[in-house]
Amino acid sequence: MTQDLKERIVGRILSKDSTYETIKDLCLMGSRFSGTESEKVAQEYMNQFLERIGVSAENYEFDYQGWMRGECDFSIKTKNKEYEFSAISLVLAPSTNSQTLEMNILDGAGGSETELKRLEKEIPGKAVMIHSGNTEEGWLHRRIKYANAYEFGAKAFVFANHNPGQLFPTGSVRSNRIGEIIAIGISKESYEHIKELLEIEGFLTCKINVSNDTPKLISKHIIWEIPGKIKDEVIVIGGHYDGHDIAQGATDNAASIAAILEISRLMKEFNYVPERTLRFMAFGVEEFGVVGSTIYVNNTDLSDVVAMINLDGLIGHIPKHIPCSGIEELFLKLKEIENELLYEAKISKNIITASDNYPFFLKGIPNVCIFGEKPDPRVGRGYGHTSADTFDKISKLDAKISTAFAFVFIDAFCKMKEMPMKLTKNEVIDILQEAKLEDNLRLLEKWPFK
Ligand SMILES: [Zn+2]
Repeated sequence: MTQDLKERIVGRILSKDSTYETIKDLCLMGSRFSGTESEKVAQEYMNQFLERIGVSAENYEFDYQGWMRGECDFSIKTKNKEYEFSAISLVLAPSTNSQTLEMNILDGAGGSETELKRLEKEIPGKAVMIHSGNTEEGWLHRRIKYANAYEFGAKAFVFANHNPGQLFPTGSVRSNRIGEIIAIGISKESYEHIKELLEIEGFLTCKINVSNDTPKLISKHIIWEIPGKIKDEVIVIGGHYDGHDIAQGATDNAASIAAILEISRLMKEFNYVPERTLRFMAFGVEEFGVVGSTIYVNNTDLSDVVAMINLDGLIGHIPKHIPCSGIEELFLKLKEIENELLYEAKISKNIITASDNYPFFLKGIPNVCIFGEKPDPRVGRGYGHTSADTFDKISKLDAKISTAFAFVFIDAFCKMKEMPMKLTKNEVIDILQEAKLEDNLRLLEKWPFK
């Protein structure tokens, strides 16, 4: 009977383009960037969607450090010429207060500690160009590269896209606070041009003038529940609805939000009662450094929350990755349900620390992320965090099968006989230390332990 219901819901997902249409709505309303009008429009859209399907939504308000983009001028001076390059400020980076700063600029390559150490004497007081590609220490998050540049005494962080296409990378430089040094994003093509000039000239001066606003703001999470048979065991299913102000944030992360809205709609329509209570959460202010979900977790009694499923980049690519934060018991339980999933998934023990699952993990809650694999790992985020993360990148087919995948996963996860045990603080610390993440997490101010 319940199997039949599950199949009917999957059948419905595959026979209509509802998720696709919702993604379109969310993309066309704007970036949903924290502090913008389109963020408010998105909140209202979700509230109305839920009201229409007969689900009451909680609007959870919180304060945070806001940031609004202003002008950004960037040029390079050689002995006898000045070159202007297009650039944008990174999120939560400070302004130059109507002044144009002038300083030498050098190439810091990937921006790992290893790479910057070699330039230790030269960096202080200069602008350092660091690209978004792999470093000599492997892949590092942008915020680690920024923190490294600051620690080595840089006066400006110039973040270059490592993917071609004249696209600027954006992203936050700190989490819920304004960074210490100015930070701008430039395209790969500008980066290559400047490196050539450096090669010819030996040294270069750059001029940067950037103005951003940094008001204190209020945002909110939209939270709703589908009550389960076991009422006192709650599984949080979350994803962030905010995108970056320069884009539509289609794959990151309008698409995941559309999927959870659609799944909720069908659960209501088919009177589907999950095994355990599902608490859906559309998080605000993720792109400022996982700010909104961290505030929620630190101010909410989570004693009935037994697991957290985070959708960030669900739609876009196949196969799906399901990392489970290095939690052995959870990993084994996921392996048991592997064959019930709709199609191949890459279940791993990888730990995701830069998305909304992480604050739940810090509280010992078993958690997974679900995201589509990028077609080529060398491109990193690809169009993510650039102006090209737009609705046209979403296909109807992928919207359907990714939504179906998420639904089948939630169904199978809920039906596990027993949920994996919550972790103690020391178990969380052990996992993070064993993965050698402590130093970087401290650098990122994401290590709440002593
Ligand atoms: Zn995201």
